Amino acid sequence: MNYIAKPERYETMKYIRCGKSGLFLPAMSLGLWHNFGNTSDFTNCREMLLESFDRGITHFDLANNYGPEAGSAEETFGRVVHQELKAYRDEMIISTKAGYYMWPGPYGEWGSKKNLVASLDQSLKRMNLDYVDIYYHHRPDPDTPMEETMDALAGIVKSGKALYVGISNYNAEQTAEAVRILKGMGIHCLIHQMQLSMIHRENEAVLDVLNENGVGAIAFSPLAQGILTGKYIDGIPDGSRAAGASVFLNANHVTGSVPVITKHLKEVSDSRGQSLAQMALAWVLQKKGMTSVVIGASRTEQIVENLKAMEKLTFCEEELRRIDEILYE
Ligand code: NDP
Repeated sequence: MNYIAKPERYETMKYIRCGKSGLFLPAMSLGLWHNFGNTSDFTNCREMLLESFDRGITHFDLANNYGPEAGSAEETFGRVVHQELKAYRDEMIISTKAGYYMWPGPYGEWGSKKNLVASLDQSLKRMNLDYVDIYYHHRPDPDTPMEETMDALAGIVKSGKALYVGISNYNAEQTAEAVRILKGMGIHCLIHQMQLSMIHRENEAVLDVLNENGVGAIAFSPLAQGILTGKYIDGIPDGSRAAGASVFLNANHVTGSVPVITKHLKEVSDSRGQSLAQMALAWVLQKKGMTSVVIGASRTEQIVENLKAMEKLTFCEEELRRIDEILYE
């Protein structure tokens, strides 16, 4: 309680213009997918959020379904905003999303206008906010006409419930189409949120479409859910995501070639005087058109370590070549 933000909070963070928009995002954003639900320790959640804000992280990434249970990460976040960060609302960028399963029946997921509008109202209620800064369609819907989904996003901006809109997990072709349709409705697609890290490079092609259209790019899981911190080199540590109940990261994802690859990558980061996590984040941020990486964390120290990536974001040709060699050999 009675939190007062550190006066020096803007001194070390880098802020990057989001595509061809007026909005700057911190090079590092904090995501609340894991570790902020109602099964997590509230004191730890609060500490991670406040420490982030004190270190220049102005952007917080949520979705309707983040938890567990679904919705509870928005409730945790709303509680901290209302108890501590209310006075700083105009210094914060708050994002949420809809598209994945949230409630039963035909309107609780995908890309209908009904789903997007109702879900945002629910999110605002859970977070106790009047508006979000960025509202995303979370995944492409193969069945709903894209015109309807984009019409929903455009209408939401016009209603004032979101200042900007974005898309997530759209492929290059779908991205070009969404950007074109929104433009026809007088709305600029602010940003695309995609998976991108040293070991998940499938979306590099989407970046070209974003750069051509002045759309910002934010990479999720830039540490490949923790793999690119090197924490699985010698096995699966207690308390790590892969040791827990996550259906998204288990022993199968962190064994096989993973320890060897990450060990070699760590040799490169050692030679750069960085931790592997810091190098992995810098590697994503050096890509043309990247606005931000959205990291996850289970404790404050991880955020503090990761932010030190800001101290060295550039790579020489030889380092990039060696990284590719390790990843593709
Ligand atoms: P990361 O790749 O950054 O992985 C984060 C996890 O890695 C942490 O929870 C922690 O796990 C571990 N970790 C982080 N830093 C360190 C460190 N310095 N040392 C050791 N371990 C560390 O991102 P996430 O996969 O969590 O995703 C980040 C955000 O991206 C989400 O919160 C969400 O906002 C967004 N996202 C969006 C998606 C979309 O479809 N649009 C999909 C997925 C994510 P632990 O300590 O538990 O091992």
